[in-house]
Amino acid sequence: MNINELTIKQAYDGLKKGDFSSVELTKACLARIKKRNKDINAFITVTEDLALEEAQIADEMIANKKQKMLTGIPFSVKDAIDVADVRSTASAKILDNYVPSFDATVISNIRKQGAVLVGKTNCDAFGHGASNENSMYGPVRNPYDLDRVAGGSSGGSAASVADHMCIFSIGEDTGGSIRQPASLCGIAGLRPSYGRNSRYGIMPMASSLDTVGPMAKTVEDIAILEEVMAGRDEKDATTVDNEVPEYSKQLTANSKQKLKIGIPKEYFDLEGMDEETKTIVENKINEIAKLPNCQIVEVSLPYTKYAIPVYYIVVPSEDSSNLGRIDGVRYGVQAQADNLYDVYARSRAQGLPEEVKRRIMIGTYALSAGYYDAYYRKAQKVRTLIRQDFERVFEEVDLLITPTSPFPAFKIGEKKDDVLAMYLADVFVAPASVAGLPAVSVPVGNTKSGLPVGLQIIGKRLDEEHVLQLGHTIERL
Ligand code: GLN
Repeated sequence: MNINELTIKQAYDGLKKGDFSSVELTKACLARIKKRNKDINAFITVTEDLALEEAQIADEMIANKKQKMLTGIPFSVKDAIDVADVRSTASAKILDNYVPSFDATVISNIRKQGAVLVGKTNCDAFGHGASNENSMYGPVRNPYDLDRVAGGSSGGSAASVADHMCIFSIGEDTGGSIRQPASLCGIAGLRPSYGRNSRYGIMPMASSLDTVGPMAKTVEDIAILEEVMAGRDEKDATTVDNEVPEYSKQLTANSKQKLKIGIPKEYFDLEGMDEETKTIVENKINEIAKLPNCQIVEVSLPYTKYAIPVYYIVVPSEDSSNLGRIDGVRYGVQAQADNLYDVYARSRAQGLPEEVKRRIMIGTYALSAGYYDAYYRKAQKVRTLIRQDFERVFEEVDLLITPTSPFPAFKIGEKKDDVLAMYLADVFVAPASVAGLPAVSVPVGNTKSGLPVGLQIIGKRLDEEHVLQLGHTIERL
């Protein structure tokens, strides 16, 4: 096994014992990036010099007995998340030259531990998409099959971890962008509860749904990362004060505790669902049912079917407002024109991809006088019903299990021109997003042609603890 293939836990132990240094580990990741990135296109920017500098500092920390869990461990960050003095494009040409002057709070929490940044990863522009084909820097290719998508929008993050170009990554999830690419690339990814992690420094998409979370090879690593990322931040008023549990210690702490797990039937009889995916997830559920502490019951979430229509009204509406600031005037690439209006119009026309423009137009329409009640207000009302669906089943069960994606990685180009088919990729991940709930995707097997399949665990608000516990149990089965 090469050292770049280790998990966080294994790398921590190896660094501690002196089996290898952070400089060696970082060089192994950088070598892998050099070899594979031209095919996979996971990175937009590789921070080689910075990484080697940070690795050296980490080695000093370790030598001085100041090692923390993430000290010396190479990681990547989705390009829609700000990192000080490193180009952060959000995969849109309008920010091609944007270099933030500060770290997002979650990134600063991670870097304070001495983790080593190896680069910024490709994504769908400003997080809009489920295949990474909406990046203006080209699609990300799936490490399991280079003709297929890595998922999206955090596809570069998922591929960079799955292909061992780094040990973990930080992604953003508004409507599945951590869980779906994690599932398609065979890694684990957590969308935390809304309000659990600070979004300060995350480029906003839809503010009432945006979250930032960890992507890694195991749920155990996810727990380690979430512990470092979570918590109240003065700079994000939506973050909650609740104490952050020691997720990694809790993974096995209450292993005898009885868990009642609901299987929402609506997530298994979807038209167009891939049969192999369904079977792999169902087989795993049967294994879980045999565990002495797990009880499986069927439940119903009848409003789930409205999650996609609700999501695709609320998100574009918030988008159209949030993305107003990306105008080519205060920062980013500015098009030349004779008057101010044309500067805005041309900068946005040239600097944003089709899908982002589509969302801005749909959202502007849904919010305009005369349509607001029919679309935006109606969507918000149905959103409440979806949330109440979850509240009702969570009176009966502790957790829910569903597939993460209705199908494994699809071919590049297969859905690109069929907007509605692409939106359906989010059918199982959008509901938890709309309701603000935590959810993790855990790899549970591969199709006959070798494509990874993920299972999603959804929990009660702020109950990342049980979500991660069950995820860890499943990965050890
Ligand atoms: N597929 C979703 C969308 O396009 C994912 C968005 C996200 O989570 N950033 O909106």
